Amino acid sequence: MEIAQTANVTRKTKIVCTLGPATETEVAIEQLLVAGMDMARINCSHGKRNDRRLLYQRVRAVADRMGLYIPIMFDLQGPKIRIGALNAPVDLAVGDEVTIRVGDELGSGLHFFTPFPSFVADVKVGDPVLIDDGRVRLLTTHNDGKKVTAIVEAGGRVTDRKGINLPNTDVSIQDMSSKDKNDLQEAVELGVDYVAISFVRTARDVECVRDLANTMGENFIHYIAKIERPEAVRNIRDIVAISEGIMVARGDLGVEVGSHRVPMIQKDVIVRANVSDRLVITATQMLDSMMERPVPTRAEASDVANAILDGTDACMLSGETATGRFPVESVTMMDKIAKETESHQLYRYQSAALGKGSVHRVPDGIGMAAYQIGEMMNARLLVAFTNSGSSALSLSKRHPDCLILGATIHEHIARRMRAYWGVVPVLINQPDSLESMFEEVKSKISERALAEDGDLVVMTAGYPMWTSGSTNLIKVMTIGDESRLRV
Ligand code: PGA
Ligand code: MN
Repeated sequence: MEIAQTANVTRKTKIVCTLGPATETEVAIEQLLVAGMDMARINCSHGKRNDRRLLYQRVRAVADRMGLYIPIMFDLQGPKIRIGALNAPVDLAVGDEVTIRVGDELGSGLHFFTPFPSFVADVKVGDPVLIDDGRVRLLTTHNDGKKVTAIVEAGGRVTDRKGINLPNTDVSIQDMSSKDKNDLQEAVELGVDYVAISFVRTARDVECVRDLANTMGENFIHYIAKIERPEAVRNIRDIVAISEGIMVARGDLGVEVGSHRVPMIQKDVIVRANVSDRLVITATQMLDSMMERPVPTRAEASDVANAILDGTDACMLSGETATGRFPVESVTMMDKIAKETESHQLYRYQSAALGKGSVHRVPDGIGMAAYQIGEMMNARLLVAFTNSGSSALSLSKRHPDCLILGATIHEHIARRMRAYWGVVPVLINQPDSLESMFEEVKSKISERALAEDGDLVVMTAGYPMWTSGSTNLIKVMTIGDESRLRV
């Protein structure tokens, strides 16, 4: 039961796995967990509603059986523009002239339809129209108000419902689709831990989803804004402020802003998330070639290591685990790269330099001070006794040398914290005094063999209230016999 946990205990960077046809059975989910999955992502763009529900229930069942707290993220499709269905796939050649109209009719030959209502109203002459992650490239030559006419600049095969990107077009804001609303409703009903919001443009987009979910029922959802539109890059400050988490969604981002801009945007977004105490996930194509082969390219191995050096909390696998041939090998490889990177001297220097975190409120000051005591005294473990997970995140964002124990009385908070860099969640009983809280935490540490006799542990908590935002004390404890203190 504890095998996966102890195997992962030394890795601080977390691994998000997208589940799909390659990993939908309980056996496959268990293998991913043993290999190191820390969060399961269910992509609402694919599959049927009932399949997603079953997948959700399977992850919960397997994690429960293994004694692990594993957060589940629903990723909402968002206003993704798509080509409609076609009567047959079509091979476009350079110079072909195609038309695109709004509607649900079947496309045929060089005449396409898109269900996106404002497509013709929004696209202007001179705008590029990119299909299938930019593989096929069109340039708009005419727009008569009924249809868009475009010339093929880069050819290729177009099949049913491929995605369209309009990087230079000011696309009209759409109301949330009924599909997204249904998926959000499902997320609330099931009790998912995180909801990722695709194609966010402004802070308002995040607020809308949160407000809507709150009308749908009680929930503890944390929202992750996916940065994949040029507007999101421009509005990054407000989006970081309003969201609990950020995803550098490099797939669509690369198509929308050009691949050459992705690396520095990634670094910028990660730093902004880190100084504001926000969860940050780096996503897409991390080990892409492992969809087909059991080893990654050197560039991919470097990409994972570099995202870790940039300060990401988590790295995400998409097709690698959802539909690839080597899902478990992909997780094992990511785990190995992360451990290797984190154990290097250079990482420890860089990590300490990255480790900032928010410094505005009393709990921030407590987090900073606990971190400093821990580093100075060579503590074995930092502990956050936390009601919302926020003080564990605050310690995490300082990037300490040691691990962080996130101790909480709430199971959903234990799951939430599993996504945070360096945080090991544990569930503890509600203490009735400060003494019993210390004892409870100590016994969990011993039970999990997270520290040995004589190790120093630095803990933060809120007293007399256990509520979020009340963190106001630091307790420095020695495990076991005080006289054996090793510093
Ligand atoms: P997606 O989002 O996999 O839902 O498209 C991630 C990305 O665009 O990188
Ligand atoms: Mn995307």
